[in-house]
Amino acid sequence: MNNEMKNNPPLLEVRDLKMYFRSGKDSVVKAVDGVSFRIDKGKVLGLVGESGCGKTTIGKSVLKIYNPTGGEVLYKGKDILKMSKGEFKKYRRSLQMIFQDPYSSIDPRQSVFSILKEAVLAGGAKMSTGELKDKVNGYLETVGLPVEMGNRYPHEMSGGQRQRLGIGRALACEPELIVCDEPVSALDVSIQAQIINLFQRIQKDMGYLFIAHDLAVVRHIADVVGVMYLGHLVEMMDSEGLYANPMHPYTIALLSAIPITDYYKEKQRKRIILQGEVPSPLHAPSGCPFHPRCRYATEECRRILPELKDMGAGHMVACHNVEKIAD
Ligand code: SF4
Repeated sequence: MNNEMKNNPPLLEVRDLKMYFRSGKDSVVKAVDGVSFRIDKGKVLGLVGESGCGKTTIGKSVLKIYNPTGGEVLYKGKDILKMSKGEFKKYRRSLQMIFQDPYSSIDPRQSVFSILKEAVLAGGAKMSTGELKDKVNGYLETVGLPVEMGNRYPHEMSGGQRQRLGIGRALACEPELIVCDEPVSALDVSIQAQIINLFQRIQKDMGYLFIAHDLAVVRHIADVVGVMYLGHLVEMMDSEGLYANPMHPYTIALLSAIPITDYYKEKQRKRIILQGEVPSPLHAPSGCPFHPRCRYATEECRRILPELKDMGAGHMVACHNVEKIAD
């Protein structure tokens, strides 16, 4: 680590993260296998991939909900995986999660006001009743909920309103890093756009790990996009670069399904239909995990796992044949 990194470490740096689950007597599922990335203050990393690719496992490992098998999760330079429960408690409030279904993390017996009040006070802040009311109403306003909604209960809200409440509750903890796990996947498309706009508005100088199964969702919010496949990062690049010039066959196939991108329009690409399903992580293929579905697969791909390599300007790609695939 150079001196600058030491004195000014990234908000979050994940190094060689591994999360293996035992399945039965002799099998091991490698849900995440050697993933590294960083998130700087004020930046959004979009992590994208089909279900089962390990993105949610990464989100939970970053928040120490899981105890990873290996690697480091450095929050402001300190490895939270090595911290005791007591030590981690100091950081817990700074690291928040927003779920796909906020219902799962909300007490349905509490009113909206009481849910937000609890989040505001959980850090030990002391304030008068009036100040507390102003603070809670401020969060309602920030997430676009009318103040009168404070008296409602979660079951009286729409899916979009509940997600706004989930976001408000996370913000009330004054976090520095938020892990958003598919926060818009369960919502109608028009509501998705509103919630994405809300995220863009509140971003400020927090860092986000924004998990989605769809490249279209993270396009307007992520500064950097990482594409995952079966526990591995297969491509990572700043958002503009990735959408304009995808290099990994998996990313190319995913993007070909979004006809709105310039990549599709300018290059007159045809939609690439991926053959077959993502294999079960329990029976992960040898070599490149994408090889059974890849039309460029060679013998080398079946034997050797490709490393993530910098193809220039920080465009990281894990593919043996990337030079041949590039048009
Ligand atoms: Fe396809 Fe081989 Fe590249 Fe994997 S390494 S994506 S199988 S060409």
